[in-house]
Amino acid sequence: MSNTRSPRRGVLLIVASPSGAGKTSLCRRLMSDHKGLELSVSMTTRGIRPGEVDGRDYNFVSREEFQRLIDADAFLEWADVHGNLYGTPRAPVERALAEGRDVLFDIDWQGARDVAEKCTGDAVRVFIMPPSLAELRRRLITRSQDAEDVIERRVANAKGEIEHCDEFDYVLVNEDFDRSYAELAHIYHAERSARRRNLWVQDYKNALLNEVV
Ligand code: 5GP
Repeated sequence: MSNTRSPRRGVLLIVASPSGAGKTSLCRRLMSDHKGLELSVSMTTRGIRPGEVDGRDYNFVSREEFQRLIDADAFLEWADVHGNLYGTPRAPVERALAEGRDVLFDIDWQGARDVAEKCTGDAVRVFIMPPSLAELRRRLITRSQDAEDVIERRVANAKGEIEHCDEFDYVLVNEDFDRSYAELAHIYHAERSARRRNLWVQDYKNALLNEVV
């Protein structure tokens, strides 16, 4: 019986966590192991950090440019996070969904909520918990990308983000990177197989039911 097992609606995989919980490393590994998964590159008004690349990690823009894009309705969602503006460009997500491609979002709980509301049935939300706030602070200090006061603000903000974890479909505690990565990859694989996304199932079912044996 011939069946290409397509089309499938894309998975919009949203991964959120307090900064320092390991989300970015988990997302990078998931991307490198799954070439079909593309990252939604956000726009931000925050300054570029050492090691970051404009256009790869973020599109870094001025507040004026960001406001112009808000006015033009160019964002699927945007939010003020730690005093800077961050937003998900709408067009690439709509294109990916139309073409059945999967998109990964590294965004905060506010963005996760907005995307899930606007893309019901396509979005899956995963929240990454740090093992403890003390460990979160230790990781932020070790990665030494932020000034001390910024680190303290991020640790203080973490509680506000953790409070929202019950809005998420899945919650992982990132104690051990490899174990957390395996769990994240399992979630992604399972979501790709969800019946509601696999639009070929009805035709396949009918073909089986009509098969003469
Ligand atoms: P960072 O400055 O550490 O790169 O990011 C700060 C927070 O903003 C992180 O929780 C990150 O996931 C979130 N963030 C990044 N891009 C977006 C976005 O486009 N929208 C929203 N709502 N949050 C974002």
